This record gives sequence, C-alpha cells and structure tokens, in this order.
Amino acid sequence: MQLISRRGFLAGAAAAAAAMAADAKPYDGRTMAVITAHADDFTIFAGGTIAKMIAEGYTAHLIRITNDEKDSYDLSAGETSHRNTTELRAAADIIGIKDIYSLDFRNDEMDALSETEVRARLILLFRKLKPWTIFTFDPSAKYEENPDHKKTARAAEDAAWTASGHLFLEEQFSLGLGRWAVLDRYYWARQLDDSDVNKVVDIGATIDQKIRAVQAQETMMRHTALATKEKLAQANLRLPLLDNVDEAAVNRLVDIQIRERAKALGAKQGIEYAEVFHYIPIAGEGSYVMKNAVPLK
Ligand SMILES: [Zn+2]
Repeated sequence: MQLISRRGFLAGAAAAAAAMAADAKPYDGRTMAVITAHADDFTIFAGGTIAKMIAEGYTAHLIRITNDEKDSYDLSAGETSHRNTTELRAAADIIGIKDIYSLDFRNDEMDALSETEVRARLILLFRKLKPWTIFTFDPSAKYEENPDHKKTARAAEDAAWTASGHLFLEEQFSLGLGRWAVLDRYYWARQLDDSDVNKVVDIGATIDQKIRAVQAQETMMRHTALATKEKLAQANLRLPLLDNVDEAAVNRLVDIQIRERAKALGAKQGIEYAEVFHYIPIAGEGSYVMKNAVPLK
C-alpha cells in the first residue's frame, strides 16, 4: 500500500469553506472514508457532495483500491498507472481530500481476488481512520459490469460492520487499533433505481469544483474522449467537438457531461445540479433507537 501525501493548498475547498459562516459547519470533527475502485469514480459520482461535506466540517480520506494501470488511450501500463496516480492527487486536492491510501490491486482484474482479502485491508483502514461516514459503490446496483466496482462495493459494505467485531482480525488490536463501526453510508451507482434513491444532494455550490477535479484527471478523460470518438466512428458517426481531441475539447466534453448528468438527476427534485445516493443511516429514521438516543455527554 502506498500513502500519497497531500500536495498543495486546497484552494477550491478553502474558498468554499470561507464562503460559509464559521457557525455553519455542522460536521466539524467528523471523518469520512471514500472508497473508490478507480481514481475517477469518486469525482464523477460523488465529487460535489464530498466537497460540500468537507466545506461543512468533514475531514475526508480516500482509499483507492486499484492501480489504474489500464485507463489510458495509448500509454504503457506503468506510465498509465503513474500518470493516473499523479492526477488523482491533483483531483483530490481540488475536492479537499486529506490523505490517499492506495491499495494498488490490478486494474479491472479484481474478479479473481478474494473478497475476504480486500475486506481485511479495509477493516485495518477503518479501524485506523475511524470514519463516521463512508462513500462507495452500491453493492446492490443493477447493470454494474465492472469487476472492480462490484468487488469494492461488497468488500466495503462488509468491512463497515466487521471492523467492529472483536473476533475479526484480532491481531490488529495488538497494534493499538480498536473496534470501529461505520455510522452511515452513501452508496453511488452508474444508475440507481428511483426507489433506491433516498438522498438527493444539491451540488450547486460545488459543481465547478467537481468539474475541475474531473478535468484534472487528464489521462482518463482523454481516454474517454478518444474511446467515444472511436465508438461513434464504428457506427459511422462523428461528434464535431471531438474532431480534434486536444485539452480544450476534452475539458469541454467533461464540463458538458458532468452538467448533463447533474441536471438530469436534479430535475426530478427541482434542483439545478444534484448527485443522488442510496443512503444508509445509523438506524432507521423515526425508529425507537433514534427517537430515544440522547447525547453521551
Ligand atoms: Zn471505475
């Protein structure tokens, strides 16, 4: 595992935070762990919400599961992984992420891995980072075809509760780590059924930050643009925007597609730009536990 340290001053996050009154930080002291299979999953599916929650007080850590060695258009695997890792740090800085823990499993080959192994790596990190909240893929999402997304989702969901078990990986307790139960979970998906969406987040204040973060992932976005162009050509179509796939064209495509998705997701709620999640709280809203819980101190 490699720990990718924080690089620069978080201009975007700081500006967003400064725009809020000091007393408008309801999440001060809370920590989140964002579990992303690939460098661009969390920016594309949840970047606006994560940036917003950081501005509201959360400290965010990113756990990147794979090495992203296959997501480029024309580079070697080594160069691809190196560039995607460098660009991930840049994107994470724009969102306001503190540390990145990269597990470096081979990209798009996680189907062969034991879920128990991946879960064990996450249990260790959950016990260390003590996340109140996690973000990751929805383990129940339909139409998910990527093996890394599926394995990441299952391992993260299981680690969220097994990290609190005293008989799971007992040797970790000798390192000074304790049990930890994740308190709430935000699940994203390529496509969530309306009946599974129970959290709609207005990302109007952070959509520009989100777009800049995705644009910072240049290697992956150039790959997406060129793959789109190729696929269209096979169908005897062309998108004039991609006649010349330079940096400006790629950035423009990212801007259009991020706004398009956020607008479509917000439209049902009358919100200009939204991200949506399947949200799992500490305990059911209105349940005996939540109605009767009082502050510990
Ligand atoms: Zn992915």
